[in-house]
Amino acid sequence: MGDVVLESVWNSVCLKLRSELGDPVVDSWISPLLVDRLEGDTLYVKAPSAFLRDWVANNYGGRIADLCRRECENVKNVDITASIASAVRVKSPVGRSKTSSERARTEDSVDLSIPLDPKLTFENFVVGKPNELAYAAALRVAECDNVVYNPLFLYGPVGLGKTHLMHSIAWSIKSRSANRNIAYMSAEKFMYHFIKSVRFRDTMAFKEQFRAVDVLMIDDIQFICGKESTQEEFFHTFNALVDNNRQVIVSADKSPSDLDGMEERLRSRLGWGLVADIHPTTYELRLSILQSKVTTAPVPVPGKVLEFVAHKITSNIRELEGALNRIIANALFVGREITVESARDVLSDLLRTSDRKVTIDEIQKKVAAHYAIKMSDMFSPRRVRQVALPRQIAMYLAKKLTTMSLPEIGKNFGGRDHTTVLHAVKKVEDVIANDANLSEDVRLLINILTR
Ligand code: ADP
Ligand code: MG
Repeated sequence: MGDVVLESVWNSVCLKLRSELGDPVVDSWISPLLVDRLEGDTLYVKAPSAFLRDWVANNYGGRIADLCRRECENVKNVDITASIASAVRVKSPVGRSKTSSERARTEDSVDLSIPLDPKLTFENFVVGKPNELAYAAALRVAECDNVVYNPLFLYGPVGLGKTHLMHSIAWSIKSRSANRNIAYMSAEKFMYHFIKSVRFRDTMAFKEQFRAVDVLMIDDIQFICGKESTQEEFFHTFNALVDNNRQVIVSADKSPSDLDGMEERLRSRLGWGLVADIHPTTYELRLSILQSKVTTAPVPVPGKVLEFVAHKITSNIRELEGALNRIIANALFVGREITVESARDVLSDLLRTSDRKVTIDEIQKKVAAHYAIKMSDMFSPRRVRQVALPRQIAMYLAKKLTTMSLPEIGKNFGGRDHTTVLHAVKKVEDVIANDANLSEDVRLLINILTR
């Protein structure tokens, strides 16, 4: 009997079931089934998972068989088989294109095993005060065969090693037991899978897939804040795994209790295991990370330059690495010797952004001190040149060294208008261009402020 005939028999059966059982039941339980073949007088139907097969066979098996017999006289029995593997990977029979839910499942099964970055291992992770707790917790979870902390919740600002630690855990577990089923993905990817499964009416397969993992790692969970149905689904997945003694590892940019837009029950559940935070880097940690990274660099980088970079690039480790890579690339391509001066040139744009952390208060204080005027003159309406020029210089520096807008700057100078600030900026630029002494003054102030 041809595929097309079988397909149409099955479609009529599904239509009848839809009118008898209603849309939700058919969408959740019947639609994921695929008619496979007729062998003798047995019609084989495939379910994407054992769970779904059992449920359908127990609850609707009799009715499905009745309807099939009625639709097609050759059918005596219906056999529902579970075949995640074959239903997903089997080539679609000739003459029949894949259904959308088949397609969705095929992609899902591929996507669940996201490739791990071979560089992100425990060996390459430099430990220091700011990350020692997170490191120890990650190592413990990776090396213990029984579940000690569940979940492990790693949090900290961007670029400080959360993803690195998660990959390290995965590598470590893999190296000890290759057959453990590890799923690592971003929360965004989790949501993507979930939404796709809803759209393709395939949520059972989705659930099954996620519940079959031994270790589930979800990176950047803050992404699903405010996304209620994804949270709901994650909550159930999470509970199912924890109840079955499977390890769950989650990362976020904030602690569980600070995750605004996260359902209360999920927040509290996330805090049940071990919560480990990663703090902003210290100079010492930055320097040891740089020292460890240069051991594999193609050109030697002087210690002084590493110190300079560790001193200047304080935002996060990703930027720190980026800065070092730039210095090395520049040396390789331009052939210039690596010195603090050359590094300063290469990194000039990065240095400017870190210089922007100067506060307006510091600027006013330093400028007032430099010109020996009172701090209150920064806010006063006095217009005599002795105070007006330093004030204009301070406004100019505020514009140059902070990210504040002209109106904000004006507000900080005794509630001045933004046009006043603009005028000050132009005026100082003018003076700098024409007055070597004053230009030297301003350069000095910038040095002091951004040191
Ligand atoms: P996050 O996930 O917290 O945003 P990542 O794990 O992606 O940060 O880390 C950013 C970069 O910094 C990566 O290239 C990572 O390898 C590196 N890195 C972070 N922490 C360390 C560390 N302690 N030792 C070495 N490299 C690190
Ligand atoms: Mg990350």
